Amino acid sequence: MDKKSKVKVVIRVRPPHGEQEKVCVSVENNSVEIFNHRNVNENIKYDFTAVYDQNCSQLKIYSDCVRPLLDCSLQGQNISIFAYGPTGAGKTHTMLGPASDPGIIPRVINSLFQRIEEEKKQLGFEKWKYKVSFSYLEIYNEKVQDLLQPKNTDLPIREDAEKNILVPNLGEKIIENFDDFKVHFGPASNNRTIAATKMNLRSSRSHSILLLKVVKSTEEPQYHELHGKIYLIDLAGSEDNRRTGNKGIRLKESGAINRSLFALGEVVDAINAGLPRIPYRNSKLTRLLQDSIGGTCHSVMVVNIAPEERYYYDTYCTLNFATKSKKI
Ligand code: ADP
Ligand code: MG
Repeated sequence: MDKKSKVKVVIRVRPPHGEQEKVCVSVENNSVEIFNHRNVNENIKYDFTAVYDQNCSQLKIYSDCVRPLLDCSLQGQNISIFAYGPTGAGKTHTMLGPASDPGIIPRVINSLFQRIEEEKKQLGFEKWKYKVSFSYLEIYNEKVQDLLQPKNTDLPIREDAEKNILVPNLGEKIIENFDDFKVHFGPASNNRTIAATKMNLRSSRSHSILLLKVVKSTEEPQYHELHGKIYLIDLAGSEDNRRTGNKGIRLKESGAINRSLFALGEVVDAINAGLPRIPYRNSKLTRLLQDSIGGTCHSVMVVNIAPEERYYYDTYCTLNFATKSKKI
């Protein structure tokens, strides 16, 4: 059996917004310290395998954490990359980024096509055929919503005989280069943004999930296919909305978010502790990821934190979450 891999947990601190605000986070090598200016007993230092400070470039995060995994998808293995953290801490910047400073998603897609061209040259143009496609969905209130085909709401998640997880009827677009991707992804993210403004900051309360599928096939010596999946996930904000006095529907939403983020935390903890049973079935998110986190899959969680003092409590909770996950 292949060696079981763990989920790599790294921290990224974004630059402070403006110079007026007090900052409560400092980074030194692979540790982060948070300061509570009102109570020095609440200064806490955390150690991690990797901490990226405010000066870290998008390229650095990509080359350190994601690029080394990419080839696995061309060998039929699954990968999942997550951005975790409270709203405003830099998850979307890390995953998507602006066009002027692209994040993980555009870099993965560009390198994937580059790697395919390189492989074709190495292995011979005739031998292998490659097909790349993507789906884009969100999980909101424990419901799977298709962003490529917005009519598909509350899609079921199934498992086939080979233990592959599938979402029947989920929209999928075949792409041959990054421009193809942009053509379909643009309108799909608009679907999300429109829903977001209509529905009370929905975007910070839903998990946004981009799935890239790579199918590599050959006829020689007989027909053979390799399937690799890459999940790129901008998680819902990890802040505890109960503290901000949300009531009714929003409280229900934060309950669902907290439940699926909590379930993800439990899955990551169980994997990293090497437990024999991983509790995938406790949420839609972990169920969907069952074939792409744990086992022989490769996963990285970028934990984003904001340096300003007003985020102290969120940062504290987020670092505790990350500490629990990286343990053992
Ligand atoms: P989240 O998705 O976690 O809510 P965002 O990615 O939207 O947070 O980031 C909040 C703001 O901070 C945005 O204006 C974003 O452009 C900016 N930002 C986040 N991370 C960085 C970074 N590393 N460098 C520069 N600006 C950043
Ligand atoms: Mg965001």
